[in-house]
Amino acid sequence: MAIKAIFLDAAGTLIKPARRVGETYAVLARKYGIEVSAAEIAERFRLCFHSAPPLAFPGAPAARIEDLERAWWKDLVRRIFEPWDGFQRFDDYFAELFAYFAQPVAWTLYPEVAETLSALEKRGMVLSVISNFDSRLIGILEGLGAAHWFEHIFVSSRVGYAKPDQQIFHTALERHSLKAGDALHVGDSEEKDLHGANKAGLKGVLVERNGESNSNPSLRITSLRGIFPLLDDLDQR
Ligand SMILES: [Mg+2]
Repeated sequence: MAIKAIFLDAAGTLIKPARRVGETYAVLARKYGIEVSAAEIAERFRLCFHSAPPLAFPGAPAARIEDLERAWWKDLVRRIFEPWDGFQRFDDYFAELFAYFAQPVAWTLYPEVAETLSALEKRGMVLSVISNFDSRLIGILEGLGAAHWFEHIFVSSRVGYAKPDQQIFHTALERHSLKAGDALHVGDSEEKDLHGANKAGLKGVLVERNGESNSNPSLRITSLRGIFPLLDDLDQR
């Protein structure tokens, strides 16, 4: 079975925040007179992010997407700060935070990304990103010098469906004129990436950089370099 394309998730798979998210939120909040610890904010972020609606706006006209993305994040950040009263300049805080995370310097590529993607490209693989992120991702990947590897960068906010919805995977396959069996999808979320891809008929690969998960999917790697032995193995079947 020959794999022709590899789809990759972005955050936690290709890129990570240059500084811990909780720390960025807390340091900036202090500037606006709100004293919170990075750990408290990190915990609130986890809680609120997990219960947030999908970052997708089915049927929305393209011209409205950026406003909707911003409103989605503003809602989330507002909920994160609910336990702290008296955040008077919240709008200004949010604007600064949102702009901060749009900058490439706010993110870093995992160390093995460049060598891995270059080698996959040499092998003739079609590479694309499938991410539950928003339009900012495109500028971030460009700024990090990573966009050129990808034929497409599919972000849920623009596709109209977020992982684990099968539809985002089907959209990517259709755009490439590929069948589900032609593609691998690699990501760090068991639910969104591994199970989402598998349900859509693609081979899902879970990247677990700390290797601590209790789960035991057969396609599990601890760095993107692990893609090569998987491809060799699939080629031999
Ligand atoms: Mg991820």
